[in-house]
Amino acid sequence: MTVTYEEALASVLPVVRVQEVRDVRLSSVVGEILFRDVLADRNIPPFPRAAMDGYAVLWTGKEADTSYRVVGTVNPGSAWSGDAGDGDCIRIMTGAMVPPPFDTVIQVEISQAAPDGAVRFAAPVKRGENIAREGEDVRKGAVLIPAGTLLSPHHVATLASIGQWEVEVFRRPAVAVLATGSELIEPWESAQGPMIRNSNSHFLLAALKQAGFPEVRYLGIVPDDREKIVSKIREGLDCDFLLISGGVSVGDVDIVPNCLAACGVRKILHKVAVKPGKPIFAGESPRSGIVIGLPGNPVAVMVHFHMFIRPLLLKATGAADYLPKPVHLPLAEEAVNNSSGKKFSIARLESKEGETVVVEIPSHGSGDFVSACRADGVFEIPLGTVRLPAGRRVRFFPIWGNFLSKDG
Ligand code: AMP
Ligand code: MG
Repeated sequence: MTVTYEEALASVLPVVRVQEVRDVRLSSVVGEILFRDVLADRNIPPFPRAAMDGYAVLWTGKEADTSYRVVGTVNPGSAWSGDAGDGDCIRIMTGAMVPPPFDTVIQVEISQAAPDGAVRFAAPVKRGENIAREGEDVRKGAVLIPAGTLLSPHHVATLASIGQWEVEVFRRPAVAVLATGSELIEPWESAQGPMIRNSNSHFLLAALKQAGFPEVRYLGIVPDDREKIVSKIREGLDCDFLLISGGVSVGDVDIVPNCLAACGVRKILHKVAVKPGKPIFAGESPRSGIVIGLPGNPVAVMVHFHMFIRPLLLKATGAADYLPKPVHLPLAEEAVNNSSGKKFSIARLESKEGETVVVEIPSHGSGDFVSACRADGVFEIPLGTVRLPAGRRVRFFPIWGNFLSKDG
């Protein structure tokens, strides 16, 4: 039975087993997924902090009419605990703790030296000005970064600020990659006659590495031979994910689903109403791993990796946000979907009259992997939609290009 793309994801995601936890050093957390909520270990800021270089005063509302006696200086990292009475102030630098009884900082720019080392201010000020109050950003115990977050350098700043030197993250699932097809040879072999080079496996290895899944077992190429396929599948079933390309369609030699059944893989789905890559297979291995059988067409493999497999891998790694994120952008030209499912069309982004537009890339179909080299990603033409006019906003998934650098 053919299911929709959304139904397909919804039926496989719940079967995905989430990995265990491991500790990593702060220097290695980028790209990892946080296991546990990270909480503030104290108020942020932890003390009333001067936000300007200037003078700390106890506000009276008469700052512009008062000559102040400077009774001390406080720099960042040191504390001041002298006595201060009416008309007293201290010099204070940005980042320093504002000591009691002071409650306001007047910036140095509006100060004027007065006789006997005193200081005056040229303008009135508001009570509490130029002080970041204790806890005004976050209160102690609040969640700073929720579990399931994919960690980036800006998260490292927060982790460092609260002293999290060791961070609990999810383990990455182990992934096996297998190519099936009697026509396949490896890139380092010489191609002759009906043979073609195995590009899918090398795409998958590269895409897995880029997506942060370095633990990959490469099982090479296996011809369309039942015994050989079964024996390779058995090797791959040790891993949490087994990704197989080729042999899942309806041709005489498309025997992968049968071989998977012989190895005890439970079919979850076979065939999704999506183009490219309709014959995709998903199953659960006897040790609760996920097996994906991809049609051999290279563009189908590329699109399915990002739109179907990566969400599953991220889910297995504990990510809270695992679905691909689209941006909504207008089409440069009319786009057509003459398939019976949802279409993911390859496209690049261009700047037209100050707006970023989606330009569909003409392609000879899902075998035309060279066209994909010019693409920044794919946009979606929903199931049941035949035509989208130029200018219509579409969901564009920037899965390949450097989207940000294209904004003109
Ligand atoms: P299949 O899904 O096995 O029927 O293959 C569909 C098309 O993809 C055929 O033209 C295959 O030659 C091609 N193909 C299959 N596997 C690969 C691969 N690993 N690398 C590149 N092309 C492939
Ligand atoms: Mg084949």
